[in-house]
Amino acid sequence: MKLVRFGEPGAERPGLVDKDGRIRDLAAHVQDIAPDLFAPPILDRLKAIDPESLPLISENVRLGVPVAGIRDIFAIGLNYCDHAAEAGMALPGEPVLFSKATGSLSGPNDPVVLPPGAVKGDWEVELACVIGTAAHHVQESEALAHVAGYLICNDVSERAFQLEGTGQWIKGKSADSFCPLGPWLVTADEVPDPQNLKLWLDLNGERMQDGNSADMVFGVAFLISYLSRFLTLKPGDVITTGTPAGVGMKRGRYLRSGDVMTLGVERLGVQRQEVRAYSA
Ligand code: ZN
Repeated sequence: MKLVRFGEPGAERPGLVDKDGRIRDLAAHVQDIAPDLFAPPILDRLKAIDPESLPLISENVRLGVPVAGIRDIFAIGLNYCDHAAEAGMALPGEPVLFSKATGSLSGPNDPVVLPPGAVKGDWEVELACVIGTAAHHVQESEALAHVAGYLICNDVSERAFQLEGTGQWIKGKSADSFCPLGPWLVTADEVPDPQNLKLWLDLNGERMQDGNSADMVFGVAFLISYLSRFLTLKPGDVITTGTPAGVGMKRGRYLRSGDVMTLGVERLGVQRQEVRAYSA
């Protein structure tokens, strides 16, 4: 099942995507796509709904963040062998964990706005998962059972803010619009193997990133198990799992107003963002 939220910012409605790729209105069944839906019995009840019975929505509608009420966004750095190599960094011995502020969340096709003073805006296509049931000290073998679904994350970054001052990466990862998610949440049953998904990103139509989640240093199951040693993962938490090679930092090409990023992950759809300069 592909769950989606559509409508203007702050007024999104719940929906699902049918087998023909059309959006259907789920409002007769649920108030919103929110973490309380991810309890397995509720999710099973949703999956039993016949999409044909739901009203069709206009194709031109805006899409929002596919899950309302996300409380934490955890991110993993240097998690692809080829990206660690291009960054000139050794493969990490354990996951490099950082977070993004939830204020950075935006719809999958909303503009990315470079914040005041930004000079090194950059792109990172990533596979992200959304936690469905709380996970605390879980084994790697049990970890994927805690995933509600998967979606695309563009882990937009400002490299000067991230790397050239003091302190933590969160500064360069958290500007408004720096975390487009979606277009939809694909429930975990439709992604039997998260470690075999192609992912790619084009800038103005030119391929910048072209990877496969098979090349992750630490897979999704390990990451969930690892994080759960230090904190309790809650329903609705997002873990974005790192990016393959091809980021702007290594190409000497940073985001400019007017650029268009198009990015996809196999099975999870496509995002498209126009880049804009900040205006007060
Ligand atoms: Zn990243």
